[in-house]
Parts: sequence; structure tokens; C-alpha cells
Amino acid sequence: MNYREELINKKRIVIKIGSSSLTHSETGLLDLEKLERLARVLTNLRNMGKEVILVSSGAIAVGCKKMGLKKNELSLSQKQACAAIGQAQLMMTYQKLFSEYNQPVAQILTTKLTMLNDEYKDNAKNTFLQLLKMGVIPIVNENDTVSTYEIQFGDNDRLSAIVTALVDADLLILLSDIDGLYSDDPNSNKDAKFIDLVEKLDEKYINMGKETSSSNVGTGGMSAKLVAAKIATLSGASMVIANGADVNVINDIIHGKDKGTLFLSNKDDSFDLVEEIK
Ligand code: GLU
Repeated sequence: MNYREELINKKRIVIKIGSSSLTHSETGLLDLEKLERLARVLTNLRNMGKEVILVSSGAIAVGCKKMGLKKNELSLSQKQACAAIGQAQLMMTYQKLFSEYNQPVAQILTTKLTMLNDEYKDNAKNTFLQLLKMGVIPIVNENDTVSTYEIQFGDNDRLSAIVTALVDADLLILLSDIDGLYSDDPNSNKDAKFIDLVEKLDEKYINMGKETSSSNVGTGGMSAKLVAAKIATLSGASMVIANGADVNVINDIIHGKDKGTLFLSNKDDSFDLVEEIK
């Protein structure tokens, strides 16, 4: 069995979708057709007997649109306000779309501080595990009302890797606006080579993690994705970065097809989630 085919057996899967993959680039409004397909694909994973967690950005983008504001002109507190407005709208949309398939979903908003406090972290983990046991798809975002640090420097790539480690998931799929990892920025170097497989995430690959994503909608570039890859793979999960232009790519990955860049799990027993988050 090759590495790709091993993905067929993954049971607990975290999928992260970024703002740029959720919205139309021309208008910044939600791409409802894509969200509809996402709800169907994720519910189908549940129907295949998998446990699924969705990490979704888009709160700020949706809130800004609703209020007729431009994200890059906002102060921090305006971004937080937009996140609060947009998160409710986003969840309402997800609820509606998943209910078409009778699939219950839940909202989990978390912060870095939650993960650094043992008691809070255990509570969060127990909630996730209980939801998965109940057959629910948790939909996760940062609690941007309190996590100013995350709005300014953090990103949901890292959050999704932290969630992966927290719940001992065995696969993380990061849907981005780029096909995967390249040896150099493919926008500026046409000789940049696509990397299909990363067996061990060492310096050579970390150095490739320049800001290779052209998107200015989301916050995490390729270097953020490699930080996520480090956390996820050391915690014992495999990770795939793939292009979220078509969310059916999730099916392809789960069926062992050669899509995106696969980072093999490299479980390290000395891996300490709290140390990684600090
Ligand atoms: N939490 C932010 C939002 O939902 C986005 C963070 C990110 O995309 O990395 O808008």
C-alpha cells in the first residue's frame, strides 16, 4: 500500500477552509455553491463512518461585507466587531446547509489561552470528543472577541493543527488557494517545482515556505502552513495541503488520489502541545 492509499483508512479528520476559499474573489461574498458542496462532502465522510471537524475562517470577511466595510482599512476593534457579526452569519449559513442532509453541527470558538490552561484544554478536548461521539461535526474558529493576538499574528492554519493534536486526529486537510508546496514561489519563479510528498519536514522544506500564496483574503501563507504541518505531523497526524477551488478534492484525498502535498505523520513521543502553542 502506498502512502496515498493509507489515507483511505484515516478515521478522525480535521479539514480547514480559509476565507479565500469560502468567498468569491470578485465580490468578497460567500460562495454558496461551494459551501453547499462542502456540507455534502463532509456529511458524506460522516456517512462513511469517519469523524469530521471543520475549521472555518471567514468571520471577519463575512462581517465586513455585511457592514459594507473594507477589511484592510479596519482597526483591530473594528475587525473584532466584524468577526462577531460575521461568525453568527457564517454559522447560520452552515446550519442551514448541513440541515439539508440532517447533519448536526456545533460551533466551537477557542483561543490560544484556552489551550495553555490545562483545565480549559481538557474541557475543550472533552467537548470535542463528546460531539464526535454524538456524530456531530464541530465547526471551529478563533474567538476573535478576545484573541487579539490571533487576529494580528495568528491564523487558522495553526489553529487547525492545534485542534488536530488536541483530539488526536489522524489526518489534517488544509484547503488553500494554492495546489500545495512548491520549491519556490510559483508566481515569481516558473521553474518552481511542485512537491508531492514530504516524508520528513526538515529545514530544506521549511525554507521553501515563503509567502507563496497570492491571496490577500486570508491570513496564513505557506510558512504558516508549514508551522501547521510541523505541529500536526509531530502529534501523529498526516497532513495534506490542497487547492480548495473544488472541495471535491477532499474526496480525492480520502480515496488515496494524488492531490496536493502530503506530509507524512512523524509522531514524536516528546511532542508537547503546550510548548508548541506558547
Ligand atoms: N478567525 C478569522 C476569521 O474567521 C480568520 C483567521 C484566519 O483566517 O487565519 O475571520
